[in-house]
Amino acid sequence: MTLLPLRVLLVEDQEDDAELILVALRQAGYAPQCRRVQTQPEMVEALRSGSWDVILSDCNLPSFDAANALQIVKAFGLDLPFVVVSGAIGEETAVAFMKAGAHDYVMKGNLPRLAPAIERELRDAAERAARRLAEQALADSEERYRTIVDAAHDTILLVDADWCISFANRRAPDMLGYACDQLIGLPFSTLIDLADRDEWGLRLRQIHQGGAFELDLRLRRSDGRDIWATSSCTRLPAANGAFGGAIVMLKDVTERRLAAEALRHQALHDALTGLPNRTLLQDRLQQAVFSARRENRRIAVLLIDLDRFKDVNDAFGHHYGDLLLKEVGDRLQHALRESDTVARLGGDEFAVILSSCLEVEDAKLAAVKILKALDEPFIIEQQNLRVAGSIGVVVHPDHGEDVNTLLRRADVAMYAAKREGDGYSMHGTDQEEASASRLKLSAQLRDGIRLGELELYYQPKVGLRTRELKGVEALVRWNHPEQGLVVPDAFIPLAEQTGLIKPLSRWVVETALHQWREWHRRGLELTVAFNLSMRNLHDPHLPDMLEELLQGFHLPPGALQAEITETVLMTNATRTLDVVTRLSNLGVQLSIDDFGTGYSSLAYLKRLPVRELKIDKSFVHDMAANENDMVIVRSTIDLGHSLDMKVTAEGVETPEAWDRLDALGCDLAQGYYMARPMPVAAFESWVGRGIYVPNPRPTAVA
Ligand code: C2E
Ligand code: CA
Ligand code: CA
Repeated sequence: MTLLPLRVLLVEDQEDDAELILVALRQAGYAPQCRRVQTQPEMVEALRSGSWDVILSDCNLPSFDAANALQIVKAFGLDLPFVVVSGAIGEETAVAFMKAGAHDYVMKGNLPRLAPAIERELRDAAERAARRLAEQALADSEERYRTIVDAAHDTILLVDADWCISFANRRAPDMLGYACDQLIGLPFSTLIDLADRDEWGLRLRQIHQGGAFELDLRLRRSDGRDIWATSSCTRLPAANGAFGGAIVMLKDVTERRLAAEALRHQALHDALTGLPNRTLLQDRLQQAVFSARRENRRIAVLLIDLDRFKDVNDAFGHHYGDLLLKEVGDRLQHALRESDTVARLGGDEFAVILSSCLEVEDAKLAAVKILKALDEPFIIEQQNLRVAGSIGVVVHPDHGEDVNTLLRRADVAMYAAKREGDGYSMHGTDQEEASASRLKLSAQLRDGIRLGELELYYQPKVGLRTRELKGVEALVRWNHPEQGLVVPDAFIPLAEQTGLIKPLSRWVVETALHQWREWHRRGLELTVAFNLSMRNLHDPHLPDMLEELLQGFHLPPGALQAEITETVLMTNATRTLDVVTRLSNLGVQLSIDDFGTGYSSLAYLKRLPVRELKIDKSFVHDMAANENDMVIVRSTIDLGHSLDMKVTAEGVETPEAWDRLDALGCDLAQGYYMARPMPVAAFESWVGRGIYVPNPRPTAVA
């Protein structure tokens, strides 16, 4: 039989007793390695230097006893089986030892009981040690988890079965604004923004059924600030498998969310005015169309284009232009209801959706309201600026059922308003056709310019006093392959809108220039005038183009004249002055066309290198019947002369008009009375006849 080694620390003064104990142990199958101590210092030394399986202690020693020994063991923090082995002691003493920490008590007279007692105590001690180890491991791992939970960047909450918070990690107070102890006991849902609570409630049902979920929530911090968090919830089971609560993890995604929202906003709004852009407008319009269909309502779309915005930009610079656009945006919003959408589509184009419009007439009223709002002068950094708007109006479902049709027809209506100059225009079917034929016409014009379908007609300007031919105005005609001769009013505005005015003007100037040279070669000295339109003056390359054409021509001053209408000159002050000055430096004289229809400022006129004023034909026509027009004609002549300009009257149709203009001292006359605009050949034979003014005048006319 192999003996079990047993390290015994024996507290005993009696040699014999010690021997008896060892014998008893050996008999029970142990191989005791024993150290016997009798004093306190020996005991301390033995515990310090050796390790022991069991301590057997006599009750009383001369300088020591079991109680002392127990204290020492405790002081060492050891959990060793401690068995008191002694002679007869009283029951009470025995109980006191046990209370002090001894594990068992064996009488020396009953040593066979010692081994089983030791055996049991060793087992118990081993169990205790194992439990201690397990507890330590548990404590360690809890500590580890705790550290992880606290170090986590996310908020981690435990909620109980009633969704009240029972634990919050260290991050929670930072994120939610509440102290940890404020959070404990708080129903989790009170942290959630009202708008998100329904969705949250739905998800709770899911988790009660055993799932886990993730949901983006808007949370309200204790200071009232809103934050966004991605929440993920995992269910915690209770002992009986019921719902025992959950772990709620909250990741703060506020910044990401705000950045995404800012991007979204940016993508859908106009940076300058902050208004919805075209994309958002289309989206809103789609929504509005859907709900209008559902509810059987009308909605209206208004497209607004500013009429003189470009002039402001040109005259005052982009800074003013930008401020003006902002102000326009504000005015539009103020003029309409909050439920209406105001958007900026780009440039000087705005759009409005009227979300409810009972009658078609209501849309017109809104257009009038907008025009009125724009009519007030804009005061931008002390500058008094004026713009006007042209508005295209369409109503759903009357004028179109889908977004694209509505926007397209609003665009056509807007152009109609612009063309007709009456503020707003509502969609009509004829507009649709008109726009289609305009498209066709502009394609034909493009080809026509290239294929030489244009022709210049010349209309004479005759001196009133001298009755001599002084010059001609070149007026363009289009020999349309199907439509025959087309007058400029039918295609010049189109050419302006489509940019074709550039090649057209180039052709006109080039042709007029060659014609002048040809006449000059043949000894016919004439001033040849050509017309420039609004777009020509916006074209910074115009003077370059003219310079290129004029190279090689040694033009005497007064050979070439550019006619620019008064309104164009006045609305483009800064840019125009520049272009006009360059033209004048090239030797091209300036003539102000349709004078009297605009509002020229005398000061501005003086700054322009203008050589001629042309009185608009409407005044000349009405001069005979209307005293007021007569006054205008007379004062224009006087004004022109005081500024050292020649004055030409256009639209002279009758001998009376001729006489009256002659009497008023007007310099030149142009009109059907003398001659209509004519092709070159007709003009040349007219010149050949030598009668520039019908003469003698028919005196018989009543
Ligand atoms: P405008 O410059 O005012 O030209 C005078 C217009 O009055 C011409 O019409 C002419 O035919 C017409 N007219 C001449 N005498 C009389 C008259 O006694 N009574 C009446 N009732 N009308 C008379 P037209 O040729 O149809 O030209 C119309 C407008 O088209 C011109 O007005 C001018 O602004 C523009 N235009 C003509 N040619 C060109 C061109 O080459 N380039 C540009 N940009 N515009 C042009
Ligand atoms: Ca003219
Ligand atoms: Ca004119």
